[in-house]
Amino acid sequence: MLIFIIFLLGLAVGSFLNVCVYRLPAGESVVSPPSHCRACGVRLGPADLIPVLSYILRRGRCRACGAPFPARYALVELATGALFAWCFFVFGLGPGLLKALVLTSFLVVITLIDYDHQLILDKVLVWLAGAGVAINLSFAYAPLGGSFLALPVDPLAMLLGGLLGGGLLLAIALVTRGGMGGGDIKFAAALGLWFGWQQTLLALFLSFLIGGAGGAVLLLFRLRGRKDFIPFGPFIAAGAFVTLLYGPDLLAWYVGRFLGR
Ligand SMILES: [Zn+2]
Repeated sequence: MLIFIIFLLGLAVGSFLNVCVYRLPAGESVVSPPSHCRACGVRLGPADLIPVLSYILRRGRCRACGAPFPARYALVELATGALFAWCFFVFGLGPGLLKALVLTSFLVVITLIDYDHQLILDKVLVWLAGAGVAINLSFAYAPLGGSFLALPVDPLAMLLGGLLGGGLLLAIALVTRGGMGGGDIKFAAALGLWFGWQQTLLALFLSFLIGGAGGAVLLLFRLRGRKDFIPFGPFIAAGAFVTLLYGPDLLAWYVGRFLGR
């Protein structure tokens, strides 16, 4: 039951993330003006803004002019709902869930904007970094009854994570001469603040794994040519999401398996 409520919360947040993805790259406010039809400008009422359901009831069209709304809006809402439910499944109810849902929301926005524009916005990264620092510090010092994470992220680990994440991708960018963008470097640095250095290493390792597999699939099915630019941000986000959910488990397994403890 509770997981369904978290799923509904994800649908609602996903609806807001759609607005962010559409407006932030254009330099527009995410709160005003209120949502409107892009074809005829009619303001969307509460009945038009129920995630997914409005889309189905109105058959994906504006009630005033009949212009189609992109199906992606509803898909992003559904995906956000599913990701939120997944987070709840792993973390249960508690401060860990809050942290997971905030980071997941950022990952969705960054993935979609990078996919659309091959761009990771500085203003999003500043908010991402600030939120990570604020949440980790409040968790490190608030009396929450023990850490919910196998690896608590203290300030030193955060600092090292930021330096390691940014530094590693900067080095790769220099070696590959432009295979990695400045946005990717800053994205990795901001994630380092969330994860601390151990999980940052894991997140980036997973990003390259997923990116390699994803790139191969795109080439194999000829969705992208060999010379097409494939934004790396979505793969970093995927690696970060897996690390968010399973990072402590994966690291504990690795240490136990290979470092003999
Ligand atoms: Zn319209």
